[in-house]
Amino acid sequence: MRILVVEDEHKIAGAIKRGLEQEAYAVDVVYDGDEGLSSALTGEYDMIVLDRMLPGLLDGVDIIKEVRAENIRTPVILLTAKDKVADRVSGLNAGADDYLVKPFAFEELLARIRALLRRPQDVGSNVLTCNDLTMDTATYEVKRAGRKLTLSQREYALLEYLLRNQNRILSKSNIIGHVWDYDADILPNTLEVYIGYLRAKVDRPFSGPELIHTARGFGYKLGVDDN
Ligand code: CA
Repeated sequence: MRILVVEDEHKIAGAIKRGLEQEAYAVDVVYDGDEGLSSALTGEYDMIVLDRMLPGLLDGVDIIKEVRAENIRTPVILLTAKDKVADRVSGLNAGADDYLVKPFAFEELLARIRALLRRPQDVGSNVLTCNDLTMDTATYEVKRAGRKLTLSQREYALLEYLLRNQNRILSKSNIIGHVWDYDADILPNTLEVYIGYLRAKVDRPFSGPELIHTARGFGYKLGVDDN
């Protein structure tokens, strides 16, 4: 999953980026409101972590308003330095999904991100499931048919995105956009290579149905059948 961090304090932004990358998220950081808005409007992100107070013409609340006005529903966590009720209320009213008061523990940010990424049908659970494949996004444990799979960070991130969007055909550019950040070195066959790694771990050793399917010339789909 790809996360946009809009935060002008470089130290905090860097710490959030490093922490989230360790948890297998792809992270882009921008440092002011104008860039924050144009990045958020691309709609390529699965989550936006947004500082309320930003240099430039737009603050965090302005960005949320503009993004929601464009009908982009990406979950937004607002970071606020002031523990003032009015600040939180204006953020939530503008369309933020949650907020954190600075300073916050990274673990809390992580827990809130996980909670916001849950689909409605997953309420109360951190476990993504497809047939006999399970992924616990809190413990990073991936199992198929009860057997634990060992995945690299990128393989995990790719499988998580496919699981969250299961039964949908996803274009290659869509997948790359949500699993790799801007700075990543992507070769034309990078995605195919990683899909190959995943198949060797998720599908090939198991007698259950094949879960990773190729939509020829277009992209991939995770699901039980190939239709
Ligand atoms: Ca700030």
